Amino acid sequence: MILTNTLNPSIDISYQVESLEIGAVHRPTQMIKNAGGKGINVTKVLDDLGADVTATGYLGGTNGQWIQTQLEQRNIQLQFIDIEGNTRQCIAINDGEHQTEILEGGPEVSKASQALYLKQLADIAHQYKVVTISGSTPKLMNQSKTAYMIKILNTLTNSYNIVDIDGQSLKAILGQSAHIHAIKPNQSEFEDLVNQKGLSHQDIFKILKTNQLFKDVDVFVTLGSEGAIIKLKETIYKASLPNINAVNPVGSGDATVAGIAYSVEHDLDPVTTIQTALACGTSNAMQAATGKIIQQDVDDLIKKVGVEKLG
Ligand code: ATP
Repeated sequence: MILTNTLNPSIDISYQVESLEIGAVHRPTQMIKNAGGKGINVTKVLDDLGADVTATGYLGGTNGQWIQTQLEQRNIQLQFIDIEGNTRQCIAINDGEHQTEILEGGPEVSKASQALYLKQLADIAHQYKVVTISGSTPKLMNQSKTAYMIKILNTLTNSYNIVDIDGQSLKAILGQSAHIHAIKPNQSEFEDLVNQKGLSHQDIFKILKTNQLFKDVDVFVTLGSEGAIIKLKETIYKASLPNINAVNPVGSGDATVAGIAYSVEHDLDPVTTIQTALACGTSNAMQAATGKIIQQDVDDLIKKVGVEKLG
């Protein structure tokens, strides 16, 4: 079984407009409203893959209720902690050329809710072979985000934990907790982690091979349409993708995390794990919706993802 954690979910609203002009009135030609936040995207893709998945995190107010209702329509166990504030909304406006985003910060989580969440994790975590933690950490009353993340990881002692949180928080905790088993930075997140810019694929390979920060962690450095460079245990691989028609790559990283979680849950070998993870990311990029894969596309793509051992 797989447990996903979304500490700061959102209702993601996407507007399509003819053109975007500051100060003007806009009437969208299309509006899509989805249950979102990176962890919820991971959850939806795992459900699309037919995995046995439980979702937890914080939900509150009418927005939280709306997300809960959307997820109840799927085959997902829900264990969200109910908080006082209203779950956030994030708005993306597409004008055909650019995407403009307005991202609310989300409600503050009280000390009592933080404690409830940790207690629930401590009670249920042992049931799960794989745990994912994704997305931003909410505002926490009287608590540092780093300290809270370490407390969460300290309850996850028996599972394979995949951590895909915002760059600053990841930087703060990587190397500080023995309970991070995999991370999935994209190229710019990886560059932030190692304080270097403009890395070539060869540079990424060398850093993964030698930097002690990654010694005990599996690392999937995703490179959009260029595939990924992956470190699994001591071996580094380069994965390449077939040409596809990318419709909307947003959430492809989350779909990749779902593919990794699914592979670990099913004890897949390293090459098949990489192929499955990237096939999920690429299938998501082929869909207009965010956090959506098509099983048939994943099955086809798995055979077409090239995996080469770099060393
Ligand atoms: P997000 O933050 O939007 O979830 P990300 O920046 O974390 O995404 P990317 O590196 O963009 O992640 O993509 C993850 C994976 O998704 C890639 O390794 C690849 O398999 C697939 N992917 C993303 N964009 C494309 C694309 N344009 N064409 C094909 N595959 C893609």
